[in-house]
Amino acid sequence: MKTDVFIGGGGIGGLTLALKLAQRGTQVILAERMAVKAPTYKGELLQPKSMQIFDELGIYEQICDRSNEIKVLDMLELSSSLQVKDQSFMDYNVLPGKYNAAYMMHHEELKAVILNAACKYNNFHYLKGTACKGYGDKTAILQKGTEKFEVEAKFFFGAEGRSSVTRKAMEVEVKQTTYNHHFLTVTFPRAKDFTDGKIISTYNRFLGLFPLPDDQVRSVYLIPPGDYKQLKEKPISHFHKLYTDLAPVVDGYVQQLSDWKKIQLMIPVMYHANSYVKGNKAIIGDACHAVHPMAGEGMNMAIQDADILGELTADMFEQKKIHPSNLKWYEHVRYKRADHVIQLSHLAALAYSFPFKPVSYIRQRTFERMEEDPILHFKQMLNVSGLGMWKENVRDRFIQGGIMPVRMKDLPKDRKELKYYTPEDDYPWKTEGLI
Ligand SMILES: Cc1cc2nc3c(=O)[nH]c(=O)nc-3n(C[C@H](O)[C@H](O)[C@H](O)COP(=O)(O)OP(=O)(O)OC[C@H]3O[C@@H](n4cnc5c(N)ncnc54)[C@H](O)[C@@H]3O)c2cc1C
Repeated sequence: MKTDVFIGGGGIGGLTLALKLAQRGTQVILAERMAVKAPTYKGELLQPKSMQIFDELGIYEQICDRSNEIKVLDMLELSSSLQVKDQSFMDYNVLPGKYNAAYMMHHEELKAVILNAACKYNNFHYLKGTACKGYGDKTAILQKGTEKFEVEAKFFFGAEGRSSVTRKAMEVEVKQTTYNHHFLTVTFPRAKDFTDGKIISTYNRFLGLFPLPDDQVRSVYLIPPGDYKQLKEKPISHFHKLYTDLAPVVDGYVQQLSDWKKIQLMIPVMYHANSYVKGNKAIIGDACHAVHPMAGEGMNMAIQDADILGELTADMFEQKKIHPSNLKWYEHVRYKRADHVIQLSHLAALAYSFPFKPVSYIRQRTFERMEEDPILHFKQMLNVSGLGMWKENVRDRFIQGGIMPVRMKDLPKDRKELKYYTPEDDYPWKTEGLI
């Protein structure tokens, strides 16, 4: 088989890349090793930048229809006696424009929407149940059942997630950082009117609740590493109580989980490959970076990688400038953005990692100040949204630390919009030229 672009891995990243290329007329073959839906939980929170990308790909409405819109994340800090000590909000409404909300959607359903959109194009070929085993000189070596075959392509893009064969073929190393905690994660029914996200913490406990459509809610509960096995030996009512203690809103709903089997262990890791591109190969998504799940960014980073690499590759074919050195534009745009998100997610993780009262106090003060200071609030939401990047400076840190007073005046809409990435920021080769 022969094609312009071969993609290994049909997760959210690989599928978004395939759709983008297919829409622009590039010949694409995508190989996905799984023949059935993945049984494990994965990312479900879509940030505003991902929604903007899906809008450009023509699937925004379908995604809105099948997801739960989240405008506000309610951050509750509880006392040792589980009374609300402090409440602050992360409010997507501070972002001007159309993309001012996050969306929760079932991961496999999102994959199906993207795949169905890509399958409308004759230049897209999806090889289900087909694993990429490695690379030959100019080919990807594939295996379906016992049958082995090769695909010849001009470019090979690895979107195979954490254990990427393309990354290995590129000889790109990743050094993994682990954390001093794990998570339990599970989805269960919720009340109809519980539609905004909630993050509930005490000095030594953490529960995240993210409402999905169909009156369901996805939850993550922090546990010390190694506790999962012991917890599973307890009656399921112990798990229910962990949740209802912190979140009365789930009482009567979490009890519908009758078996530990549905509750998965999630082990957070962080890494960032030192390079995304080598010759005519490139990696996207979890193949090149993993972020702590606290900030709900991993899937969004894969979508944003796919957008930039897809636009670039399609332009290269359209302009008949297919020299592999052009792929460096992808790394140029994405690397520093991804690095910033990784650092933010890492900081957010650290804020909940240490079970000490002074840490919880500092966290509570920081969130309070962030909400009181409209510029800090906007910066936080902008960075989380992916729509732009505005790093915090010394003054911001002093305000957060209570050393300087909060600013009372908000920025006007047009000043905020100046902080959004422009098409020139996203696709700089369009003005600077390909070789
Ligand atoms: C429990 C959990 C919760 C998460 N929550 C969030 C969240 O709320 N928000 C968020 O943004 N992110 C979240 N993430 C992270 C997010 O799921 C990942 O960052 C995202 O799925 C990465 O997408 P990807 O396409 O790069 O890789 P993957 O989703 O890992 O997809 C890789 C695909 O490649 C296939 N594959 C692997 N090897 C081969 C091969 N050799 N040949 C062919 N196919 C292959 C796999 O079967 C898979 O389908 C979470 C992750 C986990 C585990």
